[in-house]
Amino acid sequence: MEIVDLRSDTITRPTEAMRKAMAEAEVGDDVFKEDPTVNRLEEMAAQRMGKPAALLVSSGTMGNLVSQLAHCGRGSETLLGDQSHVFFYEQGGASALGGIHPRTLANAEDGTIALDVIEAAIRPDDVHFPRSRLIILENTHNRCNGVPLTPAYTRSVGQLAARHGLKLHIDGARIFNAAVALGVNAAELAGPADSVTFCLSKGLAAPVGSVVCGDEDFIAEARRARKSVGGGMRQAGIIAAAGIVALTEMVDRLAEDHANARALAIGLAQTPGLQIDPERVTTNIVYFRVVQEGMDAPSLVARLADRGVLVLPTAPDRMRAVLNYHVTADDVDRALAVFRKTMGT
Ligand SMILES: *Cc1c(COP(=O)(O)O)cnc(C)c1O
Repeated sequence: MEIVDLRSDTITRPTEAMRKAMAEAEVGDDVFKEDPTVNRLEEMAAQRMGKPAALLVSSGTMGNLVSQLAHCGRGSETLLGDQSHVFFYEQGGASALGGIHPRTLANAEDGTIALDVIEAAIRPDDVHFPRSRLIILENTHNRCNGVPLTPAYTRSVGQLAARHGLKLHIDGARIFNAAVALGVNAAELAGPADSVTFCLSKGLAAPVGSVVCGDEDFIAEARRARKSVGGGMRQAGIIAAAGIVALTEMVDRLAEDHANARALAIGLAQTPGLQIDPERVTTNIVYFRVVQEGMDAPSLVARLADRGVLVLPTAPDRMRAVLNYHVTADDVDRALAVFRKTMGT
């Protein structure tokens, strides 16, 4: 049985070109800043994001963590969405390791946080309060149907942050999906932010790694934080080599994942017992609900898996499918046939 794995774009395996680049990578000790391949990736990443400097880290979680550690002291407060990955899925690392207090604000369905809500949450100088320090946005927004945040919205938040002396960080794990979906450069999306993290290991198919970008002083602090959490890697050029291929060869093709995601969403919307608004699917993430009597997400996920289609349950009635490099338009058709059969139509 051929498996169609739609659980996540993190399941993507390195391409042949990546494996070759990894095998041939020139390396050195990156803690000494002597790995030429890491240095090259960091320069490329900084340039793509329109920032002066960059830092390779082992994961998106580490990128968001070292960014928070670099921007915030103990007892300071971050303002972030209540549906954000940093709040939901990163173990509260900034609190546990950095003494940083998260203030969650309601995410709208389009992944934004209303500007007046952000502004109202910024603390005045008062001995009772933590110090508001950092706003965090997520682009694309995973739990909000993978929606991309626009340059206009991001600029407004950047201006708001600057007006109040706060910093802005973007968790841009999938910022290239946002850029491709909106037809803009990633630098335009990252421009208003003081820092941005993006993942090489999701839709871009590299095996390991994320990159944090920002100005020289910020990156120097992030580099210190990376070392303190055990993220100083030595001959990391082996990893960076795949990252370079990811940036040069794997960005433009994300449009295919988006088209496949839309096709999947349209097919799911036509399947009885499932609920989804295909118009909300604009990148590679497809959330849908099961609304059939006597069936819940875990039981449907198990039945689909028996027929070779893997999706991720994310709530008792909700599931997620993520289109990725290994899933073709034909695979989408096969998966939809399995959905129809499993829903008894
Ligand atoms: C995956 C993801 C991360 C974390 O990346 P890891 O490499 O899995 O640690 C952060 N933010 C968002 C929005 C993500 O989807």
